[in-house]
Amino acid sequence: MTTETPKLRPWTGDRAPASWGLGEGQAIPWEYAPAPEAREIVRLRERYGLFINGREVPAADGATFTSIDPSTEQPLAQVARATPADVDRAVRAARRAQRRNWGALPGAERAKYLFRIARLLQERSREFAVLESMDSGKPIKESRDVDIPLAAAHFWYYAGWADKLDYAFPGRVARPLGVAGQIIPWNFPLLMLAWKIAPALAAGNTVVLKPASTTPLSALLFADLCRQADLPPGVVNIVTGPGEIGMHLVRHPGIDKVAFTGSTAVGRLIAQGVAGTDKALTLELGGKAANIVFEDAPLDQAIEGIVNGIYFNQGEVCCAGSRLLVQESIADQLIGKLKDRLATIRVGDPLDKNTDVGAINSRQQLERITELVNAGVAEGAELYQPACELPERGFFFRPTLFTNVAMSHLIAREEIFGPVLATLTFRTPEEAIEKANNTPYGLSAGIWTEKGSRILMMVRRMRAGVVWANTFNRFDPTSPFGGYKESGFGREGGVHGLHAYVRLEDR
Ligand code: NDP
Repeated sequence: MTTETPKLRPWTGDRAPASWGLGEGQAIPWEYAPAPEAREIVRLRERYGLFINGREVPAADGATFTSIDPSTEQPLAQVARATPADVDRAVRAARRAQRRNWGALPGAERAKYLFRIARLLQERSREFAVLESMDSGKPIKESRDVDIPLAAAHFWYYAGWADKLDYAFPGRVARPLGVAGQIIPWNFPLLMLAWKIAPALAAGNTVVLKPASTTPLSALLFADLCRQADLPPGVVNIVTGPGEIGMHLVRHPGIDKVAFTGSTAVGRLIAQGVAGTDKALTLELGGKAANIVFEDAPLDQAIEGIVNGIYFNQGEVCCAGSRLLVQESIADQLIGKLKDRLATIRVGDPLDKNTDVGAINSRQQLERITELVNAGVAEGAELYQPACELPERGFFFRPTLFTNVAMSHLIAREEIFGPVLATLTFRTPEEAIEKANNTPYGLSAGIWTEKGSRILMMVRRMRAGVVWANTFNRFDPTSPFGGYKESGFGREGGVHGLHAYVRLEDR
């Protein structure tokens, strides 16, 4: 299947900011030549089936749906649309594999498979990175340098636990839960798969995973990798299809544990779906993180953290620093520097190695971002966008900065899940804490200050699962991640992530 390369006009950038000393309004004196990553490493097929019991199979009724490249709006492949009967087959295969094979294997044997998966992911990392960028719209430099290496790191890390479960929970015996039903979103497709599959398998569970409908392809390539690793049939099953299929998986009586990452609205439905059963549940939902900059912060470093916090992955990040809280005394200076920095952000072809902000994942998501940004303008916030050119086709949105935002504005309250930053100011640490915690969410936060004691004081009082100090969006498989309040419950990563997949018994 051929796909069209997006027609990108060369980057012309913005006018030079005054602080660059080029004379205000003068054009930035360089352009980036296109540096596209080769697509040929990915051998896209026209059709992909479900992955059940170690085999690729069509949906029971033969139905398919199309996965498109959001940067070109061109179809990439037809993907099987699972029916409830397919989910049933997948759950039965997972149950069989768990009872007869995987659950009974010594941990050291399970570890060998996980190490093999990690190694194969590293060997095939370019192929995975290119496919991930094509299917999701994220810049290649992010899938290449963040998503795929971190996905492999999770398999390495949990492989290390597989034969040490007796030491993970002192005095207790860790038993697998059984079959895990896992539903993942479209913003970090392979990484979320790794967060869910690696600890589940390390602890002796088998899984049925449903990827998001807009980004199924890296999970299906992972199915190929499972075959390559000789993983026993039924240990990993992948069913692609719409949200109803996810709900069917959640309600299936053969599932012992449900793990979900996605919107708070769907998280609520899932919680209702498992209520009254003895299924274990973890929910990793939305966020509206505050990135707080104090007047003593190293400003240039903070600017990089702010940019990384909200424009990384087009802002489609549950823990994005989408609310900038800046101390009033430095607000003008910081906003000036931020505008200068925004002028240098390159928006465009996700497969171009120079691209900083790629395509929004879907038309629906682009419409949601546009609607919320329009609401921000209508409510009186001040909008700034650099004058960068966008590709003619595809779902693109300019990096956006709002100033003059009030806590009551929709853009300060709703998760936008796009490259949109809402700026508020504060005078005292007390006010910063109050504003930061004034949200139904509680997933993450950032603090920028030179004062160590202030960091410790703030961390204690922030109601957020992860608080970064003088950095943002740092992930490591050894570190637990998860939220408070409407951001969900349960932790992924670290030994905490393992805990979510075991039943602890007395010795
Ligand atoms: P969803 O929560 O709808 O999607 C996440 C996953 O859940 C997908 O696999 C989806 O399948 C599946 N799903 C959808 N409906 C159901 C259901 N009723 N039962 C079981 N599974 C279901 O996110 P959206 O794509 O709709 O995005 C909407 C908003 O959610 C975003 O704007 C953002 O604010 C937030 N979001 C947050 C994420 C996070 O990491 N915290 C991730 C993604 C979105 P399918 O793709 O087939 O619909």
